[in-house]
Amino acid sequence: MLDRFERASCSTIIRVCFVAAFLFLLLTAQQAISQSPQPEGGGVRPGVLPKTWILGGPKCIEIPEFQIHEYNEDFYILRQSGCSHYEKPFLYLLFGKDKVLLLDTGAGKNEVARVVKRVIDQWLARNKRASINLVVAHSHGHRDHTAGDSQFEALPATVVVKPAAVAVQAFFNVHRWPDEIVQYDLGERILDVIPIPGHEASGVAIYDRQTGILLTGDTLYPGRLYVHDGAAFAQSIQRLVEFTRGKIVTHVLGTHIENTRAPYLDYKIGTAYQPDEHQLELSRGTLLELNEALQRMNGHVTRLAFRDFTIWPE
Ligand SMILES: [Zn+2]
Ligand SMILES: [Zn+2]
Repeated sequence: MLDRFERASCSTIIRVCFVAAFLFLLLTAQQAISQSPQPEGGGVRPGVLPKTWILGGPKCIEIPEFQIHEYNEDFYILRQSGCSHYEKPFLYLLFGKDKVLLLDTGAGKNEVARVVKRVIDQWLARNKRASINLVVAHSHGHRDHTAGDSQFEALPATVVVKPAAVAVQAFFNVHRWPDEIVQYDLGERILDVIPIPGHEASGVAIYDRQTGILLTGDTLYPGRLYVHDGAAFAQSIQRLVEFTRGKIVTHVLGTHIENTRAPYLDYKIGTAYQPDEHQLELSRGTLLELNEALQRMNGHVTRLAFRDFTIWPE
């Protein structure tokens, strides 16, 4: 039998224990949450993509050769017009403190160097700088991404990486191609360079830690994913899945748009004017979807359409 005093102190102890346990659980839960991204931008530097890109026509006289889009003050996207070349590739320009990287130089006869110089000059003026070193590299070596290379070769403070696997490995210091992922520092801006042969032998993906953007070239974009080497392609996609696991991926940006906004529907090869084209940006979910399909194909890559892309063996 407990007297009234003992009963009161006992219930006080239980209450204190209960409050302590509650506080402990709350603290643990908060710690768990604070370790993973929250819906406040993921902690990366934000930027804006356009709702639509300037269309390649129908009145070509009104269309600039390259659309320049400022994602943010240190990240630019150039889109070549369909009036200039039906491939309409996307080019990327990323500024660090020491270097600026231009990924790809466009298709056909173009004036890419003049356009890139204009962006760099404006960036220099804005940052009160006299110069910055330019590195011209490539998502891969196909002609619709390297056509403007020669325009940069004679420029001062400029390095052009030859669009071939040996030159790419040497420049980025990749010793175990394609399994090794290396870092390239533009100056307070580290890029991860991920070898992704399969569409083409010298292909690389670039992960920009600052914005969380993954640049995938012709290996993943809303369109026809041409597979040249099925085994290498499947391994490259698996490599991208593993690399991005647990990382912030804000956008997966490739180098073409060939799909329409309608699911499973593409524009025919050679289409210059795409008034209802798919958005450029994809997510890591699309990467997982592609990976799952390739795993299922188990080395026998066949043509297969998905909502936002088509696997297309050559
Ligand atoms: Zn290509
Ligand atoms: Zn291409």
